[in-house]
This record gives sequence, C-alpha cells and structure tokens, in this order.
Amino acid sequence: MSNLFLRTLREDPADAEVPSHKLLVRAGYVRRAAPGIYTWLPLGKMVLENVSRVVREEMNAMGGQEVLLPALLPKEYYEASGRWEEYGDTLFRLKDRKGADYLLGPTHEELFTLLVKGEYSSYKDFPVVLYQIQEKFRDEARPRAGVLRGREFHMKDSYSFDIDDEGLQEAYDKHRAAYIRIFDRLGLEYVIVSATSGAMGGSASEEFLAVAATGEDTFVRSTESDYAANVEAVRTPAPTDLPVEGLPEAQVHHTPDTATIQTLVDFLNGAGLGRDFTEADTLKNVLVKTRAPGSKDWELLAIGLPGDREVDFKRLEAALEPAEVALLEEADFAANPFLAKGYIGPKALLDNKVRYLVDPRVVTGTAWVTGADKTDHHVIDLVAGRDFTPDGTIDVAEVRDGDASPDGRGTLYTARGIEIGHIFQLGRKYADAFKLDALGPDGKPKRITMGSYGIGVSRAVASVVEQSHDDKGIIWPREISPADVHVVGTGKGGEVEEALRIGGELEARGLRVLVDDRKAAPGVKFNDAELLGIPTVVIVGRGLKDGLVELRDRRSGERSDVPVGEIVDRTV
Ligand code: ATP
Ligand code: MG
Ligand code: MG
Ligand code: MG
Repeated sequence: MSNLFLRTLREDPADAEVPSHKLLVRAGYVRRAAPGIYTWLPLGKMVLENVSRVVREEMNAMGGQEVLLPALLPKEYYEASGRWEEYGDTLFRLKDRKGADYLLGPTHEELFTLLVKGEYSSYKDFPVVLYQIQEKFRDEARPRAGVLRGREFHMKDSYSFDIDDEGLQEAYDKHRAAYIRIFDRLGLEYVIVSATSGAMGGSASEEFLAVAATGEDTFVRSTESDYAANVEAVRTPAPTDLPVEGLPEAQVHHTPDTATIQTLVDFLNGAGLGRDFTEADTLKNVLVKTRAPGSKDWELLAIGLPGDREVDFKRLEAALEPAEVALLEEADFAANPFLAKGYIGPKALLDNKVRYLVDPRVVTGTAWVTGADKTDHHVIDLVAGRDFTPDGTIDVAEVRDGDASPDGRGTLYTARGIEIGHIFQLGRKYADAFKLDALGPDGKPKRITMGSYGIGVSRAVASVVEQSHDDKGIIWPREISPADVHVVGTGKGGEVEEALRIGGELEARGLRVLVDDRKAAPGVKFNDAELLGIPTVVIVGRGLKDGLVELRDRRSGERSDVPVGEIVDRTV
C-alpha cells in the first residue's frame, strides 16, 4: 500500500446518496470524471475484472464465444433497424470529419446480426452464441448513484442465433441457468421477474433484480415463498372453463373491406396524430385494450398504424377517449388495418403463440385454429380453451400489497430492486431488418431467430456493495474482492517487515494479498481495512513481541489471536 495508487476519503462525496456510491468513492475504487462517467482506480479495476472473469467463465461454460465489437458505429445500421430514431435522446451521436453520422453503441443487436450474416449461411452453421464485455454508452436522462446508472458503463451482452423457436428457447434457458450461476457466485441476493406484461405476441423476457431498498425497480414478492414477479406481470393459473356461450365462432378474417379501411383512416386522421393517412400507407398493427366508460368489459382493438413510427402513442390513447384505453403492444408485422375482438395475426401464428384478452387479463397459449398464417389474414374471435390451449398462465396488470400470492403461499408485498441482468427472446426483429437467413436442408432460406442477453458488469459491482456493507465500509465476497487477505503492519519494532514477510508467504501459497506497509497511525490503517472491505484481515502489531498476530473476519467481525507460525495455514 505504500506505493499503491490509492487515497481513501474521510467524507462522503457531496453528490452521493446511496451507500455504494459513497463507499466506492471513499474507499478509492472509483473517481467521478463527469456526470455518469467514472474512472476505475487500481483496486476498483481488480473488482471489475473479477466480476468480468466470473461472467466470462460461466458464458464460456454455456457455450458462448467471446468477441469484441467496436463501440463507435456508423448510423446506417441503426437506421436500418429503426433504432437511430427509436433510441431518442439516450443515443450518443457524433460526426466524423467528413460530416458522416456515428453513434456510440448502447447495445449491439444490429452489428451482431450483420456479423453472423457475413460469416454464416447454412443451417448447419447454427446455433451460435456470441458475447462481449464492453463499454456501453447511453445518455441517461438521470445518471445516478455513481456507477449504478452511468452514461458510460460496462456490460456483458450476448446474442443467440437459432434456426427455429425450439433452438431459441434452449439458448434462452441456457442463459437463464448461466445467469443464476453468475449472480450466485457474485454473492448477490436477487429475484427473477417476468419483464413483459400483457403484450400480445410478446416474447419471453425476464429481469434479474438485485434486492435493494435503493433500487429503481418495483416488484412483488410473497411473504411465505420465494415467489416474485414484476408488478405488471403477476402470473396466475389460467382458467380452463372460460364462458363460451354466446361468443361468435372463431374465423379467419381476410384483408378488410374498403369501408373498414376508410373508417380507420378517418379515425386516424381525426385523431390528430401528426400526419395524414391514406389507404396506401404501409401499416403496422397496434393493439389497444379498451373499455367503455362504466363498463367492466374489456375489448381488444387492433388498428393499423404506419410503420414509420411517426405516431405519438400518447395522443392515440387520448384520441380513443372516452373509452378507457391502455396500449398493449405494437406488433411488428405489416398488415392492413382492421378492427377485431379477439385477435391473432400471421406473425403470432408463425410463432404458434396466442394471447387473448379475458377481462382484463391476457391469457397466453398455443393456437390450434390455423389458416391465418399468411399476410393480410387474421383469426378473430378466438376463445381460450375452445380455440386454443392456454399454457397455464395469465398476465395480470395490477397487484396490491396483501393480495394472495399466485402460488397459494402467503400474501404479496412490494419491494425494490436493481436490474442487474436482462434476458430477452428477440425473435426475428433484427433478422428481418437485415435479412439474416440460413439455407435449410431443403435448399430454401430460413429466417434466423435471435435472443439478446445483458448483464450490467459495472452495475453489479455497485449492487454487491449495496447489499454487502456496514457503517464502516464495504464487505466483499471473496470471489470478487480485490484481494483475499489484507495484512496490516503497525508499529516500529519490525511489525511492518513481518507483515511483508507473511504477505509474501501467503502469496506463494496462491492467495492475493494487500499489505499495509504505510507510515501511518494504527487507527488510520484499521479504518482503511474496514473501508476497503477485503474479507480476511491479519493484524501484525503489539502482539508480535509475544509471537501473536490477530486474524479478523471482515463480515462477522470475529477476531482471534494466532501464533505467527500458524497464520499462513489458518488463512489459506
Ligand atoms: P434500466 O432499466 O436500469 O435503464 P435497461 O433495461 O435500459 O436498464 P438493458 O438494455 O436491459 O438495460 O441492458 C442490460 C443491462 O445493462 C441491464 O440489465 C443493466 O444491468 C445494465 N445497464 C443498463 N443501463 C445501465 C446504466 N446506465 N449503467 C449501468 N448499467 C446499466
Ligand atoms: Mg435503460
Ligand atoms: Mg430496464
Ligand atoms: Mg433491461
């Protein structure tokens, strides 16, 4: 430590509110360079590398292959996917000397899709999982809490490429299992919650939330089981006995007639959505959930909207007043406009998944009504149980503290968490945008299906500190601690030399060691040892003249005197 580039601080930084921010700065792990932009000092860099190593080991073990893509990216790829616009102000944009537009990558779906398209072309090449650990850039509206929400931050992002839906599900499940191992090894307490809520045709997506009062995400958990869910997506068993009497038959609905199209065009133009629509518009479907004033019954309304994303959804919702309206999802397939109650479109059928609105819940399931599997055809008036098999779950839009837990054990209460990981079945969104196909065994091209999976590596460092600290400082789990042992030498009777000797021996036995050989008062050294948070501390001080050193456990606070000759064996 006498030549370590480290200065600890007595005072909390003025801009810090949460424990991890205060402690990582005070203990000299990070320094603020600009809002949401941080420098990692030597000890901090070691922790960051340790987290990366755990992530890397588990990603490699599940079959992922590490690559490193550029962070500086030309606009054209993000324009092709629509994200140059979609990302809005969060995207860092810049120009090169010739005036061409560039961006700093916030996440890399586009480039990974293009990378695979450039190298692979046959179904035999797949599946493949690629990942990188890289700095990401997002101009967050509210960078906060130090490295918890940075504008430049470290992320592990991986992408899976598969020939079919079963392959994607497998890649997703493998990622989920790898994430569980990673977050367990990091010593984090976390829950896994569904990240989608009532979105028709939506694909599976789950978030890993580190439990912390300072977190920005709210979730519900049970008082008596380990059940946990996103507030918007509590899953309860689907009823199998839905009332079918009086409901119309399911039918395949062809491209709507001119009158229907005109009704919708008039409606859209009357809604003041910022542009004029004509029947010739390339339309994308938007699903809207509506409820007439005073009515208990929800209706699913599917309307076509232009694909160029000029529509202001807030205004659309307003335009649908006085019916009570909530936007469910923008489905990503092109189709002509129509109105329907109970609905499934070609894309959803291709995926063989149905969501059906049942006052006011959405049931997911597998359809067995077919015939709509072509452009401009849709099945309407589907009824769960009659026309498709519910897969046993319902997304409920709202829960309250004290509601019964869906697993029948205990009641629900709300808690807060930090999003440390996110796994997501993308489906064919990017493969469609970049025409990523593989030649199938029949010689026909088959569109690839993808997943994307993120871990906030720098955020994970701060999340561990949020969960693992006391009023004196950080308490690192050994796996990611900058050292295994902190040997503190205090006194002028050869204690510092003895500390260095013990440190050397421990190192020879394979441990990572930090020795405090500074010329500083014992109190300063003890305080720093607690602040830095290395799990095992050895004090070489007053007891040395009696042949004793002190062994301290940072987490439990336990202390014991150990003969010098035994300390190495006791510590290893
Ligand atoms: P958040 O909801 O916190 O804004 P996100 O959903 O936008 O995160 P993703 O796009 O899912 O983030 O990115 C994958 C992971 O990257 C997240 O789960 C999170 O752990 C991490 N991450 C995202 N934004 C930041 C940030 N600004 N600083 C640090 N880590 C971040
Ligand atoms: Mg975000
Ligand atoms: Mg999020
Ligand atoms: Mg996310």
